[in-house]
Amino acid sequence: MVRSSAKALLLLVLLGLAPAAAAWNAAGHRISATIAWENLDQNSRRAVTAILRQHPDFDRWQARSKSDDPGRTAFVEASTWPDDIRRDRRFYSAGSEEPTPTLAGFPDMERRLDWHYVDRPLGRLAGTKTPTGEIERQIGRLARTVGNPKARPDERAYALPWLIHLVGDAHQPLHAASRYAADGTSDQGGNAVNIVNPFNSRYPATTLHRYWDDLPGPPWLRDSRLAAAVGSLMSRHPAPATGTTAAQWIDESWHLARDHAYPPDWDDVPTIDAIFHQNALAIANRRVTEAGYRLAALLRSLLASDGGP
Ligand SMILES: [Zn+2]
Repeated sequence: MVRSSAKALLLLVLLGLAPAAAAWNAAGHRISATIAWENLDQNSRRAVTAILRQHPDFDRWQARSKSDDPGRTAFVEASTWPDDIRRDRRFYSAGSEEPTPTLAGFPDMERRLDWHYVDRPLGRLAGTKTPTGEIERQIGRLARTVGNPKARPDERAYALPWLIHLVGDAHQPLHAASRYAADGTSDQGGNAVNIVNPFNSRYPATTLHRYWDDLPGPPWLRDSRLAAAVGSLMSRHPAPATGTTAAQWIDESWHLARDHAYPPDWDDVPTIDAIFHQNALAIANRRVTEAGYRLAALLRSLLASDGGP
């Protein structure tokens, strides 16, 4: 669609002020974590609670929710921790910032921005580029640490919020794929694609990546409204087949990105239409729900016979 240059300029100004895209926003991660918690048995809940009690930010998490179940609160709030530290000055980004002092309970203070995704190429370059991004390898590594009762308590406490978070990210289509231009530049999972989303009246100018991140709900979704959203999603989506691996979740995401994540046929700045939006919303809702069920199955298998540290 051809748009006026004045409007395009306004969009660029607005986009320049928009915060950097992260992942499913906090709502998506809290929804997946809440679904997982609902599907954990008592022993697994006890084990994850005992592990998370060793995390240096356990008390910060408690302050954010009205729930009277500290284990549930820690589990749900830990789901956004790897995104929360992007804005946390105790931490630093390797390559662009000097290391910050290592605080008790952390292995170091690196933000590990390349753990959240893998940018497998779409289109004609599919299979030809070695993708950057660590998500699949890290899910495997973190699961081994969480599932190892002999691992140090602080190592397990560090690994578990990351594992909760990355299972969610693996289900976001644009965390598994990027489009490449003819000159070889990547769109960074849609982060470099500016769009107009008329279904968000307050912030219609955004990026395609952020549009997908925001589909599961507003970032302040917590407590009773979170519970209502989770109840509705679980009633509409039964648990998927068990026994799947992180490699399969990421593969599913890549196919969804290829077939559904990009608006069809555009030039300049694409505008999301009603048909695309309804389809994207249905996919996002299904994916955050699948992530929750699968996270529960994974943690049950890792912790079923474990009383925690
Ligand atoms: Zn993430």
